[in-house]
Amino acid sequence: MSEIKNISISYREFQNHNELNAEDQELIKVSEEAARSAYAPYSQFRVGAAVRLESGRIVHGANVENAAFPSGICAERTALAASITNFPDDRPVTLAISAISDDGSVAEQVTPCGNCRQVIAEEESRWNRQIRILLAGKNKIIELDGIGQLLPLQFNRSSLRPDRP
Ligand SMILES: [Zn+2]
Repeated sequence: MSEIKNISISYREFQNHNELNAEDQELIKVSEEAARSAYAPYSQFRVGAAVRLESGRIVHGANVENAAFPSGICAERTALAASITNFPDDRPVTLAISAISDDGSVAEQVTPCGNCRQVIAEEESRWNRQIRILLAGKNKIIELDGIGQLLPLQFNRSSLRPDRP
């Protein structure tokens, strides 16, 4: 007998940066600044990401495009690769993502692409802890408890090694 299953996600939405605590506001600011350093000559779509690690340290990244389009990399993966390689023992706690409009102002919030969702899932899986995600836009901020809300039924290390969680 087949059965329809439902997956529902919930998230928190803030209308104003002032509703967030000082640490989160700072993290979002860093992600906005990171977006300004994006190398995006083809799309002009500038995205920045900032990861707060357990120690309190913040690591940022931006998208870096390439004439060979698939060689480009997104802000989220740039930031996570930097934190993983430079601070491998410092666990990512919160990831903030922002985009900047052509006029240099903060744009509406963007969500991670599929590749980035998979990479965030890997990092959560490595630590066996969720990474809080803040999608920061000019009119609202979306807070997600973890990547499971953006990537349900995910493929991760437990898919490869079901006997070793
Ligand atoms: Zn991406």
